[in-house]
Amino acid sequence: MIDLLQLENATPTDVRSEHGKLIVTVEPSSDDVPLCPQCGQKMYKHGKRTNNFADTPIQMQPVVLEVIRTRYRCSACNTMHTPELSFLDDKRRATHRLIQAVRSRCLDKTFSALGEDTGLVVNTIKNIALDYIEELENTVQFETPTIMGIDELNVAGGMRCVITNIAMRSMYDLLEDRTQNTLIPYFRSLPNPENVEWVCTDMWRPFKRSFSPFLPNAKLVIDKFHVVRMASEALEKERKKLQALHDKSFRLYIKKSLRWLTLKRPDSLNEEELEALEQLGKYLPELKMAYEFKEAFYQIYDFQNKDEAMTAFEQWADHLPQELPAFKEVVKTVNNHREDIFAYWDSPVKISNAYTECNNGLIKVANRLGRGYTFEVLRAKMLYNKEARRITTMGTIMNSGRGRVTSTTGNTSKVTFPTKIPRMVKEYGAHIPTLEEIIFDEES
Ligand SMILES: [Zn+2]
Repeated sequence: MIDLLQLENATPTDVRSEHGKLIVTVEPSSDDVPLCPQCGQKMYKHGKRTNNFADTPIQMQPVVLEVIRTRYRCSACNTMHTPELSFLDDKRRATHRLIQAVRSRCLDKTFSALGEDTGLVVNTIKNIALDYIEELENTVQFETPTIMGIDELNVAGGMRCVITNIAMRSMYDLLEDRTQNTLIPYFRSLPNPENVEWVCTDMWRPFKRSFSPFLPNAKLVIDKFHVVRMASEALEKERKKLQALHDKSFRLYIKKSLRWLTLKRPDSLNEEELEALEQLGKYLPELKMAYEFKEAFYQIYDFQNKDEAMTAFEQWADHLPQELPAFKEVVKTVNNHREDIFAYWDSPVKISNAYTECNNGLIKVANRLGRGYTFEVLRAKMLYNKEARRITTMGTIMNSGRGRVTSTTGNTSKVTFPTKIPRMVKEYGAHIPTLEEIIFDEES
């Protein structure tokens, strides 16, 4: 019989199929009598012991090794001993190679699919995964982002805090919550805190309080998306107020049609819609006005320079009519966060757009992965996804003078070349568009 199993110091002696599993009987190749591990005396055979261990699947079937080992007893000290086989993990009741196979797949496949493939119970898969995750935590260190995004993300049954690398479009970390008790120790122990030059967040004040004492070079910019969204929300409030003044059918028309018309940006409207919007001024001038103030607020971000943007905002605020109180609230909020909102124009690159896209994608990814997993596992499935991590891994070959062929003496033969070029690998976290792609591929 050809030994397909290739186990070290063990030979398959029988094989049978049972309940969709391949059961392979395995016995140690040698029958050497061991010495007592306690006292060093010679031992005696004391019956046989049979234990089952899961092994890597064969022909799409789970494999169980039925391992029959001789048990020995020491006549001097009564110690019982069963010689160990190097390929077995007694704790997990599986072969080391199966555990290795589970580790390399557990973040990409569901635990239940792996359980079906291998015959291991889901709890064992989970335990192997948790060990693996702990190991990753201790060994993988992503580079601290220069442009850091901090935001909330509703996943695995709670509001979490997601930390992104905006320039790399990657996820740097995911924290269990966004309370000061989590954030302050996190930023206090952040490696290379001086690397962070920009932090982009929403208007949630505790974010700022939690990172600013620990990131000496960081300047805060409030995410553009969160700022302009306030104008859309103000428009919504005004619309609801207006439609309440009309009869039911007109109210529904406002809610079903005009709502979307006014919420969209004009460059995404077709000619017909633009015409409808133009007509709006004739029968609902207040809504048209609210729409125009919403648009004018968005357009503040079209200005290239900070002074122009600030002037545009002042003018916008000065022209707000009394009939649009919801927009007055926006003015108040902008003034409360003035410095951090207009810091947008101080940054060398426009920080927020990619960030917003990333974040929406992350919610999709998390929702897709999230079913049945704890926060800890979900976080690892996102953060340590191999494919998404590979994209942001930079291998830099250190410049050690290689390629210098010329010698001042003209004698090139004596020029020595380094035979081993040191390679430094830097990792920047899980590439968010790749995570999205993986999820999308599964769905299609
Ligand atoms: Zn002994």
